[in-house]
Amino acid sequence: MTKSIAFVDLRAQYTHLKPTIDQAIARVLGHGRFIMGPEVAEFENALAEYANVGHAVTCASGTDALTIALIAENIGPGDAVFLPAFTFTATAEVVSLLGARPVFVDVDETSYLIDLADLEAKIAACERAADVIPRAVIAVDLFGQPADYNSLTALVEAHDLVLIADAAQSYGASYQGKPVGSLAHTTALSFFPAKPLGCYGDGGALMTDDVHRAGIYRSIRAHGKGGEKYEIVRLGLNSRLDTLQAAILLSKLTALDTEIRRREEVAQSYDEAFAALAGVGLPVPRADIQSAWAQYTVRLNERDRISDALKSDGVPTAVYYPLPMHLQPAYRQFGDGPGSLPVSERLCGEVLSLPIHGYMSISHLEQIISAFVRAVDQS
Ligand SMILES: *Cc1c(COP(=O)(O)O)cnc(C)c1O
Repeated sequence: MTKSIAFVDLRAQYTHLKPTIDQAIARVLGHGRFIMGPEVAEFENALAEYANVGHAVTCASGTDALTIALIAENIGPGDAVFLPAFTFTATAEVVSLLGARPVFVDVDETSYLIDLADLEAKIAACERAADVIPRAVIAVDLFGQPADYNSLTALVEAHDLVLIADAAQSYGASYQGKPVGSLAHTTALSFFPAKPLGCYGDGGALMTDDVHRAGIYRSIRAHGKGGEKYEIVRLGLNSRLDTLQAAILLSKLTALDTEIRRREEVAQSYDEAFAALAGVGLPVPRADIQSAWAQYTVRLNERDRISDALKSDGVPTAVYYPLPMHLQPAYRQFGDGPGSLPVSERLCGEVLSLPIHGYMSISHLEQIISAFVRAVDQS
């Protein structure tokens, strides 16, 4: 009896990295500096070095990283922040929680990333209406594929906006040979366990080449502290990365490249096996990027029937995401309703993500492929 197929196999990863992870945890239990212990700065240095970026500032989650990025730009009531409607809720939530207006932008039919023409149109419309001030764009590197940062940079410079990369799914990816982390004014990471670089709880980080911004992030994550002890210079949060999680992440970072290579091989095997299937839209990565392959996501006309068939064959799948942000009850007030962002709406009805991770065995890969081909052929 083979072990059942996992969507993301954290147990297989732990089995592989156990000696270094156990040692790292034991070291923290030994020194006892659970908050801002030495592993936190060590991990921040390793993160920044890996991504070839000036500064990395860790925090308590990816959602907090986005929140801190917005607080640092003084974004709040009267401001507009542009973001794709096809994303995880956190991207929209942070904008709304700070009292700013999320402006939902459609995504590109091929890449599933923010649509530049629609973004430009939405910025122009916002400038004309002049009821809120355009302040920032949050580009989401959905499924691990970096957005088109050259075009985005030109666009934000023309309109004097801040570019924030939501790289919760893409640490380890690169764009035109440049690693994710230095492609925007600021980059937000998540270390949620199932992300390509995940810890054993919640965690996040901000990356920037701007020393001034990095200093503000450090202040905000620690209640807005200033240079003196107990001097509070701004409103902040309690949002630190636990020392234990930093120690675990230091171990996991050493395996990230190997894991992404394996993810890439799994994606290539899926591509080859599914290329001839009718009614299956395969992912189409841009030629100038290397994806972190957080997800391998196909488009299907008969998604629900196929995911049910896979489930009964022991293959777990996931729908990221079933509803675009502008149609979510919490954000409807900010959008223009059904039909307003047609690509995002279509994708939400068709996408299905298959298991992908850095420790996929050949036998599981073969089982998934044959179950998927069988499920599609039943139509
Ligand atoms: C996971 C995720 C987040 C939030 O990260 P948390 O660490 O869970 O708070 C934000 N944006 C995107 C696109 C994500 O996938």
